[in-house]
Order: sequence, then C-alpha cells, then structure tokens
Amino acid sequence: MNVDERPFAQRTAEALADAHLRHTLRTVTTAILGYRRAGLGRLPASDGWRDHARRIRAHTLANLDRYLDQFAGAVEARGGHVHYAATAAEAVAYVRDLAIARGVRLAVKGKSMVTEEIDLNGHLERAGIRVVETDLGEYIVQLADDRPSHIVMPIMHMTRHQVADLFKRKIGATEEDVADIASMTQLARRVLREEFVNADMGISGCNFAVAETGSITTCTNEGNGRLTTTMPRIHVAMMGMERIVPTVADLGVMLQVLARSATGQNLTVYTNVVNGPRPREGDRAEGDGPDEFHVVIVDNGRSRVLASGQAEILYCIRCGACLNTCPVFHQIGGHAYGSVYPGPIGSVLTPAMHGMEKFDDLPQASTLCGACRDVCPVRIDIPRMLLELRAKGVAQGKSPLWVTAGIRAFVFAGVRPGLFRTAGALAARASRMLARGGWIRRLPGHLSAWTRSRDFPALAATSFQERWEDAKTAGVRDNRENPAR
Ligand code: SF4
Repeated sequence: MNVDERPFAQRTAEALADAHLRHTLRTVTTAILGYRRAGLGRLPASDGWRDHARRIRAHTLANLDRYLDQFAGAVEARGGHVHYAATAAEAVAYVRDLAIARGVRLAVKGKSMVTEEIDLNGHLERAGIRVVETDLGEYIVQLADDRPSHIVMPIMHMTRHQVADLFKRKIGATEEDVADIASMTQLARRVLREEFVNADMGISGCNFAVAETGSITTCTNEGNGRLTTTMPRIHVAMMGMERIVPTVADLGVMLQVLARSATGQNLTVYTNVVNGPRPREGDRAEGDGPDEFHVVIVDNGRSRVLASGQAEILYCIRCGACLNTCPVFHQIGGHAYGSVYPGPIGSVLTPAMHGMEKFDDLPQASTLCGACRDVCPVRIDIPRMLLELRAKGVAQGKSPLWVTAGIRAFVFAGVRPGLFRTAGALAARASRMLARGGWIRRLPGHLSAWTRSRDFPALAATSFQERWEDAKTAGVRDNRENPAR
C-alpha cells in the first residue's frame, strides 16, 4: 500500500505548523459542507433516501459473493473479462501483463482511489508504460510528484500560484497560460487531449458496478472519465470488491446521495455507465468504445474487513463528507494521515484492511464527536469502529505504558472511594501549585503534550463529592428550618 512511513506525530506537527494549509482547509470544508446541506435540502425526504441507501449497502455486502458472481457473468456475456485479484500484487500483475502483451506504451487514467491504494502507476511506470492521470486534480498531483490529500478534492492543499509555478516548470506554460484558473484548465485540456488521442489503454475507477447488467459507473465533473473509457482500444476498470449494487434501480438511489454529499450537486456533470466493449459482428466491430473491456475486482484486505467487526466501513461510497466535517481533518489535512484514505473513513478503513501494526495511530486521530456519522450518506457508525480499533490496539499492547498504567491506576482508585478522594485532593493541591491565575501553562512529563498547544485549568479546590455532601447537608437543614417548603 502507498503509505507515508514517517511517524504520525511528525506528520501532524508539520501540518499544524502550516498556517496556510489550515486556513485553506477551514475555508474549503466550510463551503463544501454548505453545498452539501443545500444539495440534500433540495432532495425531498433526504433522510429516507439515506436510510434506503444504507439498506442497499447492507443487503449487498451480506450477499456479496452472489452479486459478484452475477456481475462477472453479465460482463462476460457482453464480451468483457473479469479478474479477481486477492492482493494488490495480483491486481497490478494482471494490468501490467495485459499492457505488455498488447504492446501498450501509454495509458490514460481516470480518478481511482483503488489504483492509488495498490500504486498501479508506479508499477506500470517501472515496466516502461507511461501513465497519465487525466482528472485535473490528479494530473496536478502527478506533475508535482505529490499525493492526493482528499478523496474527492485531491489538491485541496495547493494554491493556484503553486499550480501555476508547477505548470511553468513541468509543461512549459507561459505567463498567459497561467493568468487565471480558466487559462490553466484550458492548457491542461490541450495537453491531455493529445494524450487521449495517443493512448493505447484507458484505466478507470468504478463508483458503482451493477450486478444485474454487468455495467460499471464512473461519476466525474470533467469529460476525462468518458474519454478514458471510450477512446483507447483497451479499457481496464479497477474496482474494490465492495463497490457493487444489485440493480439499476439501486444505482439510482446511490447516485441521489453521492454527489449531494460530496459536492452538493444533484448529480455529477458526467455519470458514465459502461456496458462492455463495442459489439462485434464477425470480424467487424460496430459502434463506439474500446475493443477490449477488462474489470479487475480488487480484494486487498477487504475480505478480512468483511469478516471483522468493521465490516460496516465497506458501505462507504467515497463521498468525502466525513473528511469535510471532521475537526481533526480541519487541523491536519489529508497528508498527515499518511495513508491513501485520509480522515475518519481512512482512520477505520486503513487499519481494518491492513492491520494495526503500522496504522495503530490512525484510530486515535479523532475526537469521537460523531460528526462523521451524522453526515455520512449511508450512516456508517465510524466512532463505534474507532473505539473498537482502539481497544484492539490496547489488547495488542500498542498503547504507551504510561497511558495503560495511568488508566489502571484510575480504575483501581475509582472503585475505592476513600482512595479516590485522597488522590483527588492531592491532585487538586498539586495542580494549584503549578497554576498561575487559575491556569497551568506547562505540565510535566508526558502530560506536557497537552500544554504545548493549550493551557490546562487548575483543579477546583473543593471536589464535586464535597460540594454534593455540603448541598445535601444544607438541604436537610433548610427543610428542617422551613418544613412547609
Ligand atoms: S464514510 Fe460515509 S461520509 Fe465518509 S466517505 Fe464514506 S460514505 Fe462518505
């Protein structure tokens, strides 16, 4: 998997030091959440649509083997090919070997998170096949040798001036070419048009695959998805094995909630439904489209998730709303998560798919406020799964010793009222000794991580239990003195 190996603390410290990034995150996510509210507001009974979408996802995943078989049968009946890849290596090998066997030298690519997950571009490039991203954001990420920072808005971390500099350095843009965003977009269109014309293979993602028809659907706001799937002679669609819906009617429900949750649009500008290679009559190919159509169904840890307590995370339709609403994402952005899937979805999906060994920090990257669950179009209970993963981490000994020891001590004292009172009184006295004006500016040892970015209030001189006892005593006295009240 494509991951940033640096420690989580280092990545977040870098992100927190970037004032521009935090300003951009705040501005963009505030705007996009407003669009989402408006988009769902235009859909009568939108909560009912969300419930229905959740039921479809739950039913599909409970019957995934059946629907995958039905889908594969329908694709093959139309002359397409289906390959199940248990691992990232198998998925990459299938596409690479196919490209080599067909003499492919240039592949154009639509936006696809699963290809990021398996680092398909890197593997194809190493086999001598040039790959060009054609979604504008992904194209910029590729030119910058960077990584997407959001699953829907891959360059939300970049300014337009950074993109202008990049275009000048990498594709010889003139000042006129980069005068404004529209000019830069036009330049990218001109460059990418040439790549589409010359490409031998188009590689797309798949927002939803429809079991009953063997169709794959891509939702984009640029025409690149349509060009990728129709112009080159070979089309390869890469899909995570959970991205399936049973029927076209079910697809309609998912489309109603996807774009509204992602960008606030009723639908994305292009919703492409691909039904296989162009038909052949004997030796003659008829109509438009590629000569060959291949679908690679990628597992890469999903079966393991399906069998775990985090199976619900596979309901995800990759709208990005949970990122946009997450207070942690607002502060650190996508790169700090270090994995392909950032934000709340990634904090569950990545460790659930690939284990806690490398990713035990991610479930901690949450305040558990529940905002992600509230905005999710399919109502995934992300906080529940974050807690489960945290518990798993503790059981595997991932929790720092001082945290485990501290919690054990708290539990020990918590069930012994006398000890709890004494410890509380000592802690209150110590905190008041450290405080200036009622606030502690610097805590000792591991606790200093808290006061590095905020002050800590000194504990109250009188504990809650003492006040409660005082209030009870005062109440009894009051009742005795004023029995009529
Ligand atoms: S978890 Fe829900 S809100 Fe987050 S990306 Fe997936 S579908 Fe969207």
